[in-house]
Amino acid sequence: MLQLLTLLLAVALGVALYKLRQHRQGLRALEQAVRQNQRFLLEEGPAHFGADWGRLCNAINASSEEINRLQQYRSSQLAQLEATLGSLQEAVLIVDDRNHILLANHALQGIFPDAKNIMGTRLELVLQSREFLDYVESVRAGKSPAQQPIEFVRGNESIWAEVTGALVPPLDGQKDKWALFVLHDITRQRKLEALRKDFVANVSHELRTPLSVIKGYVETLVDSHRDMPIEDRDRFLNTIQRHTERLNSLLDDLLTLSRLESINPGLARESIALPDLISGLIDDYRGRPSGAQHQLFISIDPAIGSVLIDPLKITQIFENLIDNALKYTQAGSRIDVSARLREKEVEICVRDNGWGIPAEDLPHIFERFYRVDKGRSREKGGTGLGLSIVKHIVQLHGGRVWAESQPGQGSAFYFTLPQRD
Ligand code: ADP
Repeated sequence: MLQLLTLLLAVALGVALYKLRQHRQGLRALEQAVRQNQRFLLEEGPAHFGADWGRLCNAINASSEEINRLQQYRSSQLAQLEATLGSLQEAVLIVDDRNHILLANHALQGIFPDAKNIMGTRLELVLQSREFLDYVESVRAGKSPAQQPIEFVRGNESIWAEVTGALVPPLDGQKDKWALFVLHDITRQRKLEALRKDFVANVSHELRTPLSVIKGYVETLVDSHRDMPIEDRDRFLNTIQRHTERLNSLLDDLLTLSRLESINPGLARESIALPDLISGLIDDYRGRPSGAQHQLFISIDPAIGSVLIDPLKITQIFENLIDNALKYTQAGSRIDVSARLREKEVEICVRDNGWGIPAEDLPHIFERFYRVDKGRSREKGGTGLGLSIVKHIVQLHGGRVWAESQPGQGSAFYFTLPQRD
C-alpha cells in the first residue's frame, strides 16, 4: 500500500515538474518576445494551459502591436520634423539645460561648416560667442528676449546671425528645460553695409580735401584780391583750377564706376581689330606732352585679328593703365604695350620700369580708393578709382586682370579678353 502511494506521489511529482518546466519554457519564450517586441505565438507556450495562457498572450500581443504602432508613428514624426527642419534656410538648434546640443539642422552647417556630428556636444564648443551664451541664458530664464543680431567668431572672421530663441514646452515627465534657437545668417548684409559705409566715408573724404582747398583760396581772393600781387593771384587761381579738375575727375570716375556696377552697364560690343586700336592709341599718346617724355613701345602678335569688345570701354582700360605707367615712372622711362594669343584668349600687358608696387600692396590695388602712396597719387591727379574701373570693364568682357611688380624695377598689368571662335 505504502509502495503504491509512493509510486502515485512520484508520478504526480513527475507530472508537476514536467508542467513547471513547460511553464518556465513558455515564460522564457514570452519574455524574449516582449524584449524583442514581437508577436508571441501561442504554440510556443505550454500546450495544455489553455485559457489563462491564451488571454495573457493576447494581451501581450496587443500591447506589443500598440508599442510598434507608436514607435512607427514617432519615427515618421521625427522623419517629418527632420525633413521640415532640413529644408529650412534658417539654422535651427535645440539645447538641453546644460547646453548640450540635442538637435541641429543642416542649415547650421551652411553658416558654421565645422558644425558636423555635433549632437551631444556642448554649445560653446561649436558656436563661439559670449553674447550668444548670455542670450541662451536669458531665454532659459524665461525672459524671451527679442530677435537679436549676434556676432560669432569663426577662425579669423566674424559671422553675424539674427537669433531668435524660445523655451520648448516640456514633455510629460521631463524635468530639464530645452531651448530652441533659430539663426538667420546676416553676414553678407553686414559686410555690404560696412562696404557702403566705407565707400561713403571715402567719397566724402576725397571730396572734402579739394573742396576745402578751393573754399580757402576763394575766400582769400574775395577778401584781398585787390591788394594781392599778381603772381600770388595767379598761383591761387592755378591751385583752384587744379583742385576743380581733381573734383571733376573724381566725379567722372565715380559716375563710371556706378554705371559699370549697375544692372545694365551698357556694354556695346562690336567686332574690332585690336592691333589697330592699340597702335592708334599709342600714336595718340606719343603726340601728348606727358607721353612724349617717355619711350612708348608696342609689340602685337599679328595673328590677333578682331575681338568682340566695347571699344570705348577697352580704350578706357588702356588709358587708365598707360596713365598710371606715365604717373608712376620717371620721365624718360620705358613703357611697353604688348598683346599675344594664349589658347582661347588674348593676353594684353602694359609694362613699365618705374617705382613698382610693394608685395603687401599688390593684392589690394584693384580695390576702390586703394593707393600705395596717397601723397604721390594725389599730386599726380589720381582718384584711386582707375584700377577698379579697369577690373570692372575686364570682368564685364569675361576676362581676367592681375598685376606683377618688383619695387624699384617696375610693374606689369595684365588683362585678358576672350578670343572670337
Ligand atoms: P590712382 O588714381 O591713385 O592712380 P589707381 O586705381 O589707378 O588709382 O591705382 C591705385 C594705386 O596703385 C595707385 O595709387 C598707385 O599707388 C598704384 N599703381 C597703379 N599703377 C601703378 C604703376 N604702374 N606703378 C606703380 N604703382 C602703381
